[in-house]
Amino acid sequence: MHNKSLAELSASLQSGEISSVELTQHFLERIKRHDSALNSFVTVTEEQALSAARQADQLIATGQAGQLTGIPIAQKDIFCTEGIRTACGSKMLDNFISPYSATVVEKLDTAGMPLLGKLNMDEFAMGSSNETSFYGPVKNPWDLERVPGGSSGGSAAAVAARLAPIATGTDTGGSIRQPASLCGLTGIKPTYGRVSRWGMIAFASSLDQAGVLGHSAADCALVLGAMAGFDAKDSTSIDRETPDYSASLSTPLEGLKIGLPKEYFDEGLDSGVGKVVDTAIERYRTLGAEVIEISLPNTHLAVPAYYVIAPAECSSNLSRFDGVRYGYRCKDPKDLTDMYERSRGEAFGAEVKNRIMIGTYALSAGYYDAYYLKAQKVRRLISDDFKRAFEQVDVIMGPTSPVTAFKIGEKADDPISMYLSDIYTIAVNLAGLPGMSIPAGLVEGLPAGLQLIGNAFEEGKLLNIAHQFQQVTDWHLQSPAAFA
Ligand code: GLN
Repeated sequence: MHNKSLAELSASLQSGEISSVELTQHFLERIKRHDSALNSFVTVTEEQALSAARQADQLIATGQAGQLTGIPIAQKDIFCTEGIRTACGSKMLDNFISPYSATVVEKLDTAGMPLLGKLNMDEFAMGSSNETSFYGPVKNPWDLERVPGGSSGGSAAAVAARLAPIATGTDTGGSIRQPASLCGLTGIKPTYGRVSRWGMIAFASSLDQAGVLGHSAADCALVLGAMAGFDAKDSTSIDRETPDYSASLSTPLEGLKIGLPKEYFDEGLDSGVGKVVDTAIERYRTLGAEVIEISLPNTHLAVPAYYVIAPAECSSNLSRFDGVRYGYRCKDPKDLTDMYERSRGEAFGAEVKNRIMIGTYALSAGYYDAYYLKAQKVRRLISDDFKRAFEQVDVIMGPTSPVTAFKIGEKADDPISMYLSDIYTIAVNLAGLPGMSIPAGLVEGLPAGLQLIGNAFEEGKLLNIAHQFQQVTDWHLQSPAAFA
């Protein structure tokens, strides 16, 4: 049951082969059996899940079900869930019960998807390995000594181990695509503004975007369609109709122009991952695509620009955690300043403090022009690189991550190497474009992903291009042996 696609699950529910309660119980049991090895869930919402499943069964019985009704889902713990703890991987919010639900959560509830629980993540989504979580690292189901990627590491591990059929994630610099790549999943980060950020705890507001991690493009298309859409409560939400992503999956790829940026195949790329990407591109040629070498000349500036802009925005966003309004408050403060300082000092982890300090510095008088303003100018150059490329090609392809899953602890003392995990993903967020990662092969038994980058609002095209690959390959159907 846990290896079925969402369309197959939907058919089984509609035909009465299984009820939503049985399906939800099946996944809850798998979580109980397997999650102690993975640490992918921080909260399991068994009662809520079963009650939503009972409601879904009623809708199915009375012919009022939609395609997702009755299929369970798990949410990254960055999305506020009414009445359920939303901790965002931080001690700061360990005691925070959200009084309302994020738009994404509401939409998926309305679609009839029972919530299995909340997924582990890097603290405030800052990380590439899930090692910065207050709740401890998540293990990669393909090799328990390795990281699942981050920051949506819990989402990736849970779906890869078949503890949930699909999960939400967020991507500020690669946090959906990189863990999808490291865990052998299909993950999509839509265009900035496509999915509402309301109720999604802010890290870097101009870069954050919600998306989904699942097994296939067809599964992601269904759930993304239910999540996307204009939301008046998010001032950066785009008022534009959400296309039917499932309807365009079957378009043939004859004549598709694929751009390969030469900067994405540099010496930093692991040779095994490079081979996987080359083979995938060959596959696309056999599907009728034309491959063109392109250049994104400012690629090398993406990581440095991001590590000014993202910390700047996070230093501002995280100022709300002051021990007064919500979350952690230190014991017996001497005075107000002592309370602010100790509450923040005791409840934020090292990586978060690091970023707040860098961001505050970059925004301070005298340094603003030299760092923040400069980074914003670089951001425009990066965006222009993509604009130029899309005059020539329909889609850009390359590796998602330069390496496969690394060992837990391996990069912990080497922030530069950790930050470079996102070297191929970060520019996409700076430009606000949609990006995807799809499983394209294994390197010494570990998954490697192919990245697809589209022009603004072309997530439908990306899903179509990914789906066509998945019609002729079976990498997306492989599962880690211990969790089959
Ligand atoms: N790894 C990047 C960072 O630590 C991106 C994180 C993300 O996309 N949320 O900032």
